[in-house]
Amino acid sequence: MHKSIVVIGSSNTDMIVKASRIPHPGETVLGGKFTVAAGGKGANQAVAAARAGGKVTFIARVGDDMFGERSIIEFARDGIDIEHIIRDPEAPSGVALITVDEKGENSITVAPGCNARLSPRDIEKAEKVISSARILLVQLEIPFETVEKAVEIAFAHNVDVLLNPAPAQPMDDAFLKKVSLITPNKNEAELLTGIRVDDELSAAKAAGILRNRGIKSVFITLGAQGVYTSSPEFRGIIPAFPVKAEDTTAAGDVFNGVLAVSLSKGECLLDAVRFASAAAAISVTRMGAQTSAPYRAEIEEFLKMQG
Ligand code: ADP
Repeated sequence: MHKSIVVIGSSNTDMIVKASRIPHPGETVLGGKFTVAAGGKGANQAVAAARAGGKVTFIARVGDDMFGERSIIEFARDGIDIEHIIRDPEAPSGVALITVDEKGENSITVAPGCNARLSPRDIEKAEKVISSARILLVQLEIPFETVEKAVEIAFAHNVDVLLNPAPAQPMDDAFLKKVSLITPNKNEAELLTGIRVDDELSAAKAAGILRNRGIKSVFITLGAQGVYTSSPEFRGIIPAFPVKAEDTTAAGDVFNGVLAVSLSKGECLLDAVRFASAAAAISVTRMGAQTSAPYRAEIEEFLKMQG
């Protein structure tokens, strides 16, 4: 079997204006500073996985516009297989318009564009690459029926499914039974289980509920507290690495992408979580989403320094 990772999900371009404050309706605020950054959970995770040494195929839709063009060039530069990225002739690339004020508070408007048109039919066309993968990594920023189709194909071919349930939404047991690994953050764990997660005990409870719904390994990410892991071989918190946080955007995405790499290489669960946590810790010391994802050598160096 190939040790490859298939990531299916969203790709967006974030257009960020830093301004003195967020304008009221009808108001214009002058004097902002503009940056463009690549984002979208699917793309963030694919890039993080590729930089950490994964053999990654990304399945997504981008528009037939300059944003789509740019994204594909960047994915290829990171060594991602772009053969299954569809250029949508009708809908534009996904964009997020973000205003950030002086205190770091933000207001975000998202136009999903062609992300909302990634269809079960698109997934069927990629059945061969999904069925020969070692692991399928999916999130919930694309239509749910599309995620269902991908999970169904993976399950039928004994390919492990790693689901990052973000943004959270309720899912039935028939679907969750086909998922082998799940990575909710605190809020997502609460939405999925009804348990408010804020410490080891509540995380254990929430994880127990997800395990009972048929998922073999549960990883509840607890920000700077680390990751509560529950699987047949281990139960407990694996602590995060202490770092000075600059921007936690995409910490979860980096964690997911890198976790998929370690698991695809057959590493044990504890080593896999430690490696992914190190990558996520590095990413929070840097600004941005895809810009903050570290390369494998950087993660190894970071871990060496931790002793
Ligand atoms: P999300 O970004 O999806 O909300 P979390 O905030 O739980 O997810 O972060 C995911 C993982 O990133 C954490 O489990 C941890 O390993 C790492 N991480 C997040 N914030 C920090 C931080 N301040 N310091 C060190 N590691 C962090």
